[in-house]
Parts: sequence; structure tokens; C-alpha cells
Amino acid sequence: NCKNADDVLKAVKDYKISFIHFWFIDILGTLKSFQITPNELEAAFEEGMGFDGSSILGFTRIEESDMVAFPDPSTFQLAAWRPSDRPVARMFCDIKNPDGTPFAGDPRHVLKTQLEKAAAKGYTMYVGPELEFFIFASPTDPTIMDVGGYFDAPPLDLGNDIRRDIIFNLDRMGIAVEYSHHEVAPSQHEIDLRYQEALRMADIAVTYKVIVKETARKHGVYATFMPKPLFGENGSGMHVHQSLFKNGRNAFFDAGESHNLSKECKSYIAGLLRHAPEFVAITNPLVNSYKRLVPGYEAPVYIAWANRNRSALIRVPMYKPGKEAATRIELRCPDPTCNPYLAFAVMLGCGLKGIDEGYELSTPVEDNIFKMTEDEMLKRGISAVPGSLNEAVANLEKSAVLKEILGEHMHREYVKAKKAEWDEFRMHVSAYEIEKYLPTT
Ligand code: GLU
Ligand code: MG
Ligand code: MG
Repeated sequence: NCKNADDVLKAVKDYKISFIHFWFIDILGTLKSFQITPNELEAAFEEGMGFDGSSILGFTRIEESDMVAFPDPSTFQLAAWRPSDRPVARMFCDIKNPDGTPFAGDPRHVLKTQLEKAAAKGYTMYVGPELEFFIFASPTDPTIMDVGGYFDAPPLDLGNDIRRDIIFNLDRMGIAVEYSHHEVAPSQHEIDLRYQEALRMADIAVTYKVIVKETARKHGVYATFMPKPLFGENGSGMHVHQSLFKNGRNAFFDAGESHNLSKECKSYIAGLLRHAPEFVAITNPLVNSYKRLVPGYEAPVYIAWANRNRSALIRVPMYKPGKEAATRIELRCPDPTCNPYLAFAVMLGCGLKGIDEGYELSTPVEDNIFKMTEDEMLKRGISAVPGSLNEAVANLEKSAVLKEILGEHMHREYVKAKKAEWDEFRMHVSAYEIEKYLPTT
């Protein structure tokens, strides 16, 4: 556990590290990496390492392409998926402009900005994501490995050995796991991470995906976080459990209030509910993401909150009712292809907006929303989440609240990239269309 550059320099010597990977993420959440040798490390801490920002999606234009990556020593870890002989290590970087100011297109910076805003009010954000994934034969062949279902044990669960290796690798990188299990769909798995402070958890989520994919690869199979790879089966979500702490106490808990939820918690939930249509383009970023958000597969479709109801956007888990430390809310729409820095930033930003402006929380919806008629839903003021990336991006583009949270650069570049993605999809003629229309027209 390194605290500063000196700790890292010492660890690099002690462990005879051969390379250090410098990691950062582009606006869409894609991991970028370059490697340096130990000789370069001291200078990298002092002056950063320059790179061409114009080659990174959503970063800079060609005329102003120089960017500098500064490694964050507190993120130094040995890469568990690499050989232990002549090991390699990795650090996350903060991206700066040549003049030393933070770069507005760095997702880590966007999250840090929201965390600072929360800190100024005395809050620390904790998050616990549940990242689900499928294991298939290969990236081009979605053949399933097993026909197991929720909590099935071996021999139905053929992913058991892979999950075991993933958890060992996570553990070797200091990432605490709470539990793991076979998920509802065939060949689908989940490993739940112990909740953490939000910035650290965003770094962990990136690392988790690398470890899952690398470990699966060593077993000769392919792990994917694609939100809805199989028609007719559950998709993969990234439910995010979240809470705010203040002065060492859980600010979401109040035994004197209904549901044991504090006023702040209720306004935070109201903030998420009100701005969800604007932020889903961030939490659910792909064309494919919206094929998961349909009735019948435990993914949320309606903008409501509940204690038990899994069809609602937000659930307040009741496993340990009245227990302060366990009090949290679960946002169920995100999927694991989101950029975790931006996703946590927009959740926090919208929740804080609710607290700042004292948003009122609607009553919980415990009946199965999927069974309500449209009239009933209308009467109760329940609407659906956007049905497509197109709709979600249009909402994001118009949103002043999201523009403020993401910052102007990130907001503009993200909308631009997602519009291009939608256009590409819109123009594509799919197998579905050929099959449906060719014989009938
Ligand atoms: N796979 C479901 C989803 O798409 C969630 C299942 C669960 O409740 O864990 O959100
Ligand atoms: Mg799950
Ligand atoms: Mg869950």
C-alpha cells in the first residue's frame, strides 16, 4: 500500500518490477495504457509523461494535442494477471494540460470534482457495484458454457473455477470480494465487491473488468460485459449500491424517519429519480444497453423506488432493516459498459442536487409495475426510462444539470461520440430487417 512517490520507488526496487503500466480512461470508459521502465519513474512523478491527446477519443483537437499523465501513487499495485517472475505494476493517472491544470476531458477529474463538492458539505460517497458478466466460447461466438441458473452450484455451474481464479487475482490486488455466484442466465456470473469510497471503487471497477477478461482468457474462454448478449435471457447489469457518510455516520440512516431513511437520503433518491432520464446515456451507454431495459428480466424499466420491487429503478435493500451501516440505496439501471467514473459522478451530482434543493420523494411502489396498466402508471406519475440510446442522448444534450456535473467539454464530447454511435446503428441494415421485410415486401 503506497502513499507517495517514494513508497512506489522503493516497492519497484524491492519487487524487481520490470515495467510500470500507466493507466487512464477515455471518455467512453475504454482503458488506455502505456508502459514505462523503472528508470523513467522518478521523472514521471515529477513532470508527468507526455502523450498525444488528439489520438484519444474525446480528448483534444490536433492543434492542442499535448497532454500529460501524472501517476497517482496511491493506486500502485502489482498486476495479478501478469507473471510473478519479473512482475509488472500499474498505476492510474490523472491527465493534465501542458500548463498543469486538470484536463476537463479526464473522467477521473470529473468524478473528483463531484467528490470535492460533496466533501465541501461534509459527505463521503461510498459505492458497491454488482458487475455481471457472461462467459462465452469466444468474442465472435456467443456459445454458452453451462445451463446453470441463479445460485446453481457445480456441476451446473461451470464457471466456478474461473470465478475462483478471478477472486484470487482480485485478492492479490487488495480488492475485497463479498460473494460470488452463478447468475440467472446460462453462463452468467456475478462477483460482488465490498463497498468502497467512490474514486477508489471506480479504479477497482476498471481493474475488475481487466482481471475478469484476462482470467477467462487463460481458461480459453471469453468474458463479456455486453449488456444484453442473449435475446430472451437476463442481461448484465451493474447495480450500484450507494450511501453518503458524514462525520463517520451514515447520513442515509435515520431511525426516526419512515423506512429508516434520513431526509437527505430521500432527497438524494428524488434527485436520481428526477434526473434519471438525463443521465441514463451515461449509465447505459450503448445501443445494446436499451435492449436490457425491457420488462421481464429483472432490469428496471420504470422510474420509481421500492423496498422489495426489482422492477423499480431504485431499490432500498431490506436485508438488515434498521441497521445503520447497511443502509444504502441501489440504483438498478447502470450496466457494466458504463464509464464508472462518469457514472458515479452523475449519480452523486444528481443526488446532491436533490439534497441541495430539497426535492420531495414520491411514495414507494411495491406492486409489480409490470402488471400495472398504462392508466394506473399515469395516475401514479410513473414513467419509463428512455427506450433507446437516441432518446437518452437527446435528453443528455438538453440537460443543464448534467452539463454542469460533467463540465462543458465532457458533456459536448460525450454527446458527440454517442450521436455518431447512434447514427452508425441507424444506418445499418440488420439481419432482423432482412428476415422480416424481404419475404413480405
Ligand atoms: N441481471 C439483472 C439485470 O439486468 C439483475 C439480476 C439481479 O437482481 O441481480 O439488472
Ligand atoms: Mg445480479
Ligand atoms: Mg442487485
